[in-house]
Amino acid sequence: MTRIPNSDSPGRHDPGRPSQRTISLTTARHPRPLGGDTARHLGRPRVSLSGMILNNTQTDARQLAIPRKPAWIRAKAPAGAEYERLRGLIAKQGLHTVCQEATCPNIGDCWARGTLTIMILGDVCTRSCGFCNVRTGRPQPPDPDEPRRVAESVAQLDLTHIVITCVDRDDLPDGGAAHWAETIRRVRVASPRTSVEALVGDFRGDPSALQLVIESGPDILAHNMETVRRMHPAVRPQARYERSLSVLKWIKEQGLVTKTGLMVGIGEHDEEVLGLMDDIRAISRADILTIGQYLQPSRNHLPVDRWVRPEQFDRFRREGLERGFEVVESGPLVRSSYHAEEQARKYRKK
Ligand code: SF4
Repeated sequence: MTRIPNSDSPGRHDPGRPSQRTISLTTARHPRPLGGDTARHLGRPRVSLSGMILNNTQTDARQLAIPRKPAWIRAKAPAGAEYERLRGLIAKQGLHTVCQEATCPNIGDCWARGTLTIMILGDVCTRSCGFCNVRTGRPQPPDPDEPRRVAESVAQLDLTHIVITCVDRDDLPDGGAAHWAETIRRVRVASPRTSVEALVGDFRGDPSALQLVIESGPDILAHNMETVRRMHPAVRPQARYERSLSVLKWIKEQGLVTKTGLMVGIGEHDEEVLGLMDDIRAISRADILTIGQYLQPSRNHLPVDRWVRPEQFDRFRREGLERGFEVVESGPLVRSSYHAEEQARKYRKK
């Protein structure tokens, strides 16, 4: 098996993109080596991202405050019996959810409906994406009992659809693929009527790792592009645009329902979003696309560049459908796992 190509690698510098030096400067100014409770850090903000990469030409002052959300972004407060049931179950099983770790604004809505996204392989990530609230650091070895606990929890939740995701584990030779495969297989046995959606990282472009996950038989395999090509160095410094496209292509070629997601409002322009949709369709022919507004988790994360209006999200949905995506979920509060069970149902109906 050949390695998934990585045409973003050093030495192939595109003059329209920031140089490696610019990228190093930017990532050096965005140190989140310890990650973690950045929202609770009270000192000076540690982020000082450069206008060379972001459209944001203003300086630090802009990043001192998290901007007030517009009226059309209103999330339901987390509360209620079902929310408490899920919270209790997750805590009892010692599991993690991306809903909690990423401080997802939809937690009140999703958990009230009994929907959640379980995060495996721990709660410490080896990467330091500029938008993500999950802790960055050196993770513990994978817990071999975790797949059993995940399967038991999914069975207790009695769901029609479950989304499982993970932190990136660049410290492991297989990127955590064997652990992934074991988890999916166990969920399949424990909950044969539950459809399984796996949202995976890029496994550093190793197709044999990806293949392990594919062979464990998820119903939907998702990998998020997150942002347009130009924004990758600031938003996903350890990922590569072309590599992510190749991951989607590989998944699609193995015959799985292929899904990807991106956020807007982090510095991209509308026409770049359309270009990204073109690239995804041309290279991978992915089936399901989600588009949502970026929300800045803390002062130490990338600043919000703009609030994308609901009408523009509707335009993105139409543009995506015109380009051939079977299902496009596009709206301010959309996340890759938001209404995932409905997207899966819509896809099956087509
Ligand atoms: S959108 Fe996804 S991450 Fe957010 S609360 Fe819902 S299931 Fe969890």
